[in-house]
Amino acid sequence: MKQKRNTNHSIHKKKGTKRKRILTVNIILSLILILTICFLATRLSPNEQEAAVSGTDIFELADIPEYTGSPYIEINNNLPSFSDKDLVKEAFEHYSNLDDLGRCGAAFANVGPETMPEEERGPIGEVHPSGWQVANYHDLIEGNYLYNRCHLIAFSLTGENANEKNLITGTRYLNTEGMQPFELEVLEYVRTTGNHVLYRVTPVFKGDNLVASGVEMEALSVEDKGAGICFHIYAYNVQPGVIIDYRTGDNKPDPNYDGQEQVEERYEPAEEKTVQEAIPENSTEGTSEADNQGVTYILNTNTHKFHYPSCDSVVDIKEKNKVVSMESRDKIMEEGYQPCGRCKP
Ligand SMILES: [Zn+2]
Repeated sequence: MKQKRNTNHSIHKKKGTKRKRILTVNIILSLILILTICFLATRLSPNEQEAAVSGTDIFELADIPEYTGSPYIEINNNLPSFSDKDLVKEAFEHYSNLDDLGRCGAAFANVGPETMPEEERGPIGEVHPSGWQVANYHDLIEGNYLYNRCHLIAFSLTGENANEKNLITGTRYLNTEGMQPFELEVLEYVRTTGNHVLYRVTPVFKGDNLVASGVEMEALSVEDKGAGICFHIYAYNVQPGVIIDYRTGDNKPDPNYDGQEQVEERYEPAEEKTVQEAIPENSTEGTSEADNQGVTYILNTNTHKFHYPSCDSVVDIKEKNKVVSMESRDKIMEEGYQPCGRCKP
C-alpha cells in the first residue's frame, strides 16, 4: 500500500519527503549527541565539579594539569573571578563552615591595614584539619614535617590564627613554595599602599578526599583596580619525594624520587621570577568566561588600547601598564581608550 502511494507522488513531493526525513534523522542524531555529552559531563567528575564551585563558578579541577615541578600554575588567564559588588573599600572576612567531612571551604576577605594582626601568632596545635597526620621526614623536608596546619588566608593578612575554618592539612611545599610568595606579595602591597586587596583562597578537594589536592588563590587590589595586585593561581598540595594518599592523608617516601633534580626545579621559579613571569604561557585557562565575572577588559595604559581578558596580546602588556577594568565598553572609550584590533572588544 505504502509503496503504491509513493509512486503516485510527484518527483517534487518526493524530494520534499526525503529532505524532511533527513532533517528528522539529523535532529534525532543531534539529540542523542547532546544527551551523550550531558551524560558524560555528569558522569566524569561530579565531585570535582562540586568541590570546585565553592570558590568560583568557572574553575574545574579536571582542567588542572598534573604537577610537573612548578609549585603553582596560572588559571583563568591569571584573572580573578570576583564580581563587581565585591569591589568595596570596607574590609570583610568570611570563612566557610566545615562540610560534613570536616573540610574547609573558601576563605574570602577584603584585606587592608585594619585586618592585619597586631598581636603575635599564638599556638595552633589544637586544631586538627581534615586528613591531619604527623609525618616526620627529617632527611627530606626542611622543618622535618610533611604536613603543616596551613592557613588559607595567612595569619599576617587577617590575624585569623587557630580558626578551624581557615586551616587545612597542607604540605610544607604548598606552604612555602606555593602559597607564601603570593601572601608576601599581598602583604607588602597593603603595607606600602594602605589599600585593600580582595583575597580568596579555596581548597580543592577531589571526591571525598580529606586532604586537598591544592588551593585556588585569587587576589585583586581594590583602590587601583588590579594595577598593584592581580592574580589567579592554583598551588599544588604536593611534596616532592613523598607519595600522598589524599583520601586519608596517609603518606610514604617516593622510591623513585631523585632529590637533587627536584630541589633545583622547585627553588628556582619562586626565587628568581616575579609572580607574572613565573606564569606559564600555555596554561590551561577558560578565558572567555572571565568576561561576565566582573573583569570586563584589560587596559594598556601605555598604548591606550583595551582588550578582552582572553586576548593573546594581554600577556605581552607590561605589568606596570596593565590595568584590570570592570567598566563598560562605553565608559572605557570615554576615558580615551581604543579597542584592540586583534580581539576587537
Ligand atoms: Zn586585544
